[in-house]
Amino acid sequence: MVVADRPSKIAELAMEYENRTAEETIEWVLNIYGSKAALVSSFQAEGTVLIDMAHRIDPSVRVVTIDTGRLPKETHTLMDRVGQLYGIDVEVVRPDPQHVQQLTEQHGVNPFYRSAALRLLCCNMRKVKPMEQALSGLEAWVSGLRRAQSDSRTGIGMIEIDAAHGGRIKVNPLAHWTDEQVWRYIRSRSLPYNELYDKGYTSIGCAPCTRPTAPGEYYRAGRWWWEKDVPKECGIHVSMDGVRPLKDIGPDGLPKNAVA
Ligand code: SF4
Repeated sequence: MVVADRPSKIAELAMEYENRTAEETIEWVLNIYGSKAALVSSFQAEGTVLIDMAHRIDPSVRVVTIDTGRLPKETHTLMDRVGQLYGIDVEVVRPDPQHVQQLTEQHGVNPFYRSAALRLLCCNMRKVKPMEQALSGLEAWVSGLRRAQSDSRTGIGMIEIDAAHGGRIKVNPLAHWTDEQVWRYIRSRSLPYNELYDKGYTSIGCAPCTRPTAPGEYYRAGRWWWEKDVPKECGIHVSMDGVRPLKDIGPDGLPKNAVA
């Protein structure tokens, strides 16, 4: 069932599910799309909640993750724990090794600190492109986005058409959840979580691009903390075309020229 050509139907569903629970929303997408739907998780706190909910609804639920090659060891540890706990074979998608080699040969191992262009180039290669691969064969995907996470996420719906990914259905069952609700659920169910949260992290991505946040700091302040005036997004959920210097990035996502 491909519904992207029926935006009015999706708009209706989005309104209807605005008042439904996260579980009801997950149940809807899994019932409609079955194995053509998957949870795409980076194993942050929200991902653990969704996996727990989805697994109780359908133990055969697919869980997909992107291993950028720069994840902290704590994230790998959690992936293994969650896989074992639920008996899930987490589907791991990795960046193209040739692209990574080209990036590091041209710009070094840690190019992201030198400019936003290089940071976005790395995110494009290690996250955005693998995400396209992860979604191939899927008609719908479930994300852990929440409106409270950042200004760029305040407008997300419970059910959306993901125009950036071929018009697939994107479901955000925790869209209206607060941070407190996420942690209340994790504690009430004694779920495993990334131990970096106990070290002051509030959002967890790649190891070299994430630091803990101080009390009172913005939720995603620890992501690409050295950047000023650049949205704290990698390009998967929010288009970064407006800030990406397109002249430096070819249509295949590879660098055309050296970036200063
Ligand atoms: S978060 Fe950092 S290491 Fe990870 S893909 Fe983006 S720039 Fe590269």
